[in-house]
Amino acid sequence: MEEKKVRVRYAPSPTGYLHIGGARSALFNYLYAKKYNGDFVFRIEDTDIERNIPGAEESQLHDLIWLGIIPDESTEKPNPKYAPYRQMEKLDIYRKFAQELVEKGYAYECYCTKEELEEMKEEQLRNGVKSFKYDRRCLSLTEEEKEKYRKEGRVPSIRLKMPSNHTLKFHDLVRGDVSFNSDDIGDFVIMKSNGIPTYNFAVVIDDHLMEITHVLRGEEHLSNTPKQLQIYEYFGWEPPKFGHMTIIVNPNGKKLSKRDLNILQFMSQYRDLGYAPEAIFNFLFLLGYTDPNGQEIFTKEEAIKTFDPKRLSTSPAMFDQKKLLRVNSTYIKKMDQETYFKFIEPFLDKVDFLKSVSEDRKNEISLMFKNEINYGAQIIDLLNDIIIKKDELDDAEKEVLTKESASKVCALFKEKLEKLSETNEENVKNIFNEIKNETGLKGKDIYMPIRIKLTGVMHGIEMYNIIDILGKEETLKRL
Ligand code: GLU
Repeated sequence: MEEKKVRVRYAPSPTGYLHIGGARSALFNYLYAKKYNGDFVFRIEDTDIERNIPGAEESQLHDLIWLGIIPDESTEKPNPKYAPYRQMEKLDIYRKFAQELVEKGYAYECYCTKEELEEMKEEQLRNGVKSFKYDRRCLSLTEEEKEKYRKEGRVPSIRLKMPSNHTLKFHDLVRGDVSFNSDDIGDFVIMKSNGIPTYNFAVVIDDHLMEITHVLRGEEHLSNTPKQLQIYEYFGWEPPKFGHMTIIVNPNGKKLSKRDLNILQFMSQYRDLGYAPEAIFNFLFLLGYTDPNGQEIFTKEEAIKTFDPKRLSTSPAMFDQKKLLRVNSTYIKKMDQETYFKFIEPFLDKVDFLKSVSEDRKNEISLMFKNEINYGAQIIDLLNDIIIKKDELDDAEKEVLTKESASKVCALFKEKLEKLSETNEENVKNIFNEIKNETGLKGKDIYMPIRIKLTGVMHGIEMYNIIDILGKEETLKRL
């Protein structure tokens, strides 16, 4: 038998911008496609019309492309064989398939109003029923009863008729065998009365028509899978293979929520702060894969090669911002100069002092920070820390300066610096060595007082670079 071509998809709802969870789903589908020479499809689930927001679709797609998770087919690059790629453009298709299920007796019209359903829910709650199930009062309506409802102005929705005591099982690519009983699932709506399909119905039609072979998605969809499997069964279609990825948790072990403002979650926020797309790609990969040897840095090619859905983690993935910073700084260090200059430019533009500085000098200064910064925007603060000297010292900083040796070190340094014709790395290092020999002091006792005198802070880039940026005159003034 001929092997089917692997086809996977990322199918966001345009209700928000690309965030960490969505990007992770997209990434693992992408890796699957690339590993098995398949296609990665980007399509849109926009049936929740009230929640759609303008620009979300474009940002979802463009942020993915920025990350290097490039779809083979998308809303912007449709394959006519599978188009359209937006659900709201396919309403007649869903209607036709829903009608087919009604005709076969697998689905039925439901004329219940919102109020009636609400009442039904409350009554079940009173009777101690934990999860609501439709009581099937519309299952066997006669033509006359339906006609009567229609005359009242009621418009029906369509519900799937779940078979009784039927096992719905599948082999999850991540967690192994999973099974559900149809009795635990009520007859759910597949087409709303406004003619718009529900997620569980539309997604099956889409995945089938687009010949999707594998679905990797978040754990929150696990309980939807049996509903979808029942629809596949009624149509006699072969379902794709499913894999459900674990939730992403914050360092306190709590599920990451889009409302958690302590953690930046949107890809655009990271781009704006100067995270390299390759670094985020790498980091997202680590949200599902733990290397037995602790390897943390993976190129795209390595990730594709290493990826195996069976090895996707079954315990929650921890969103570790420190790890992300670490990975990002590794990528910044690895950039060649041209790439780095381009990458850092938007941030340099935000430093006033650099506005009057030549392009070459700007590049020279930016290179001083290449091995220091964890993300692009950090250069703004680090540079401003040097240029705009902090006047108010905190207690720890004051303490350094009140040490007896501090004023001696500063005076010596000033004296020696004055005599220098050129304040380059070698000369400055020599001065420090001389002070070391002459005073018998070492390390922090020498560097810290000078650092604080020059910038008002205890950390920062190499001292010879600080002096280079400030210039000899300003340095002497500050000492
Ligand atoms: N639109 C769904 C979501 O954003 C996609 C679910 C699926 O992949 O089936 O969660």
